[in-house]
Amino acid sequence: MVRNKNEDCLLELFSLLCDQKKPVKKWRDVRVFPNVPAAPGMPCAGEDRSIYRRGARRWRKLYRVNGHIFQAKRFNRRAFCAFCQDRIWGLGRQGFKCIQCKLLVHKKCHKLVQKPCSNEHVDPVEVKEDANGESTLGRASSVRSRAEPEPLPETPPAPPAPVRAEDLEPGSQRHYSLEDFELIRVIGRGSYAKVLMVELKRTKRVYAMKVIKKALVTDDEDIDWVQTEKHVFETASNHPFLVGLHSCFQTPSRLFFVIEFVRGGDLMFHMQRQRRLPEEHARFYAAEISLALHFLHERGVIYRDLKLDNVLLDHEGHIKLTDYGMCKEGVRPGDTTSTFCGTPNYIAPEILRGEEYGFSVDWWALGVLTYEMLAGRSPFDIAQAADNPDQNTEDYLFQVILEKTIRIPRSLSVKAASVLKGFLNKNPAERLGCGEGAFLDIVNHPFFKSIEWEMLEQKQVVPPFKPRLEGERDLANFPPEFTDEPVHLTPDDDTVIADIDQSEFEGFEYVNPLLMSLEDCV
Ligand code: ADP
Ligand code: MG
Repeated sequence: MVRNKNEDCLLELFSLLCDQKKPVKKWRDVRVFPNVPAAPGMPCAGEDRSIYRRGARRWRKLYRVNGHIFQAKRFNRRAFCAFCQDRIWGLGRQGFKCIQCKLLVHKKCHKLVQKPCSNEHVDPVEVKEDANGESTLGRASSVRSRAEPEPLPETPPAPPAPVRAEDLEPGSQRHYSLEDFELIRVIGRGSYAKVLMVELKRTKRVYAMKVIKKALVTDDEDIDWVQTEKHVFETASNHPFLVGLHSCFQTPSRLFFVIEFVRGGDLMFHMQRQRRLPEEHARFYAAEISLALHFLHERGVIYRDLKLDNVLLDHEGHIKLTDYGMCKEGVRPGDTTSTFCGTPNYIAPEILRGEEYGFSVDWWALGVLTYEMLAGRSPFDIAQAADNPDQNTEDYLFQVILEKTIRIPRSLSVKAASVLKGFLNKNPAERLGCGEGAFLDIVNHPFFKSIEWEMLEQKQVVPPFKPRLEGERDLANFPPEFTDEPVHLTPDDDTVIADIDQSEFEGFEYVNPLLMSLEDCV
């Protein structure tokens, strides 16, 4: 498998470090929709939902120079670059730290470091499981731990000021807190968040509330993904096919995004019941998703986590993308990035190859999702490999994505097969939506010939499927495994809170001015 083209990207090392402890994932049952359920809402025979809702992840990236193994690092206190001697500034992760000798440098300086690493011994890297049983890379010696002394500190760190809800916005009526909401029901879970249906007590309006434990916001490759998620939610508030933001607030242990409640459930839920979709339906969803992605791309955002569980249906049956936790912002046309992240089944070959990539990865994921809608299974269905344990691993899945020719079911029309081949081209330069014609190539593709794009964008096209809903608060489209959960949030654990650097979450509070004025009219 070729995935180490980028010199800097030490995925190989990553594998080496993990090999001993990495639980071998069983992909034997990864057929997306094995058969038809006995009754609507029931799981299919032998269905284990946990294998479907696979969480998105970021893989930790390591950079090797002169024996050093650098890792991106946020500095909570003043630190200086061992190369240029300048200060490595505060919050964002402009700094790199060698995981062996602890040398600190700017990200921009790390390639220039002449001094060899003084300690070429590699700490073991733990693999730990997240809430979904997905394995993620844990930090060997808790990189963010306050107990670990940072070299070259100029001033001792200020003790973290505990954040109390009532302190967050003194004198302001405009910020929200948990007390303003009634928690009604759990409606979803992802790899980072729990999502609740809530009511804003003052207006009785219903919202979704995405709750993220601060302890999970550890330093990852991209600078501050929570901040990115918030920015993208703000941007998204201006588009009909994206979930917009009402407000943000925090408690000492958690971050809260109050967002539009989208009543029709996610596409994963509907696909599990319908198995596969008629071409007409898949075309409609793919076209609306294309408009949503194009809107994000035009604003410099790569979405990076398109999958069935992140596509919601509103009460009329229009789509809305949610979950901006994997987004990359600030990308101009032609710019590239390199973080190895996403949900395994949807990760584009260029990411796996360790190449720099751009907006192309979203069009690949749309290909995977459209294939799933049309065929009722993943294009990388490796269920037939179940008897060979070597072929049930994530590595094997990645190899299939990289190397195997994708077989399009013969039952699909020529146009559908053509659009799938277009999006699922392993070469991003030749992929549909990524060439010179860019988005226009998608608009003009024969598969989308019947789509009236302007009408579609204005929600003037009647959706092919209307979710069954009795009333505004009907939760029939959300999986019982979530809605049956108790809705309360577990009380804060003081020892966990003591480890959280609250200064990292300063300024998280937000109220969408547009929604506020709407509410004032109520
Ligand atoms: P994560 O970042 O952990 O993946 P998500 O934002 O994807 O969390 O939310 C998890 C699940 O909650 C989604 O797959 C979806 O089913 C449900 N969900 C998320 N946002 C909304 C919303 N605004 N309205 C209704 N359901 C939602
Ligand atoms: Mg999600």
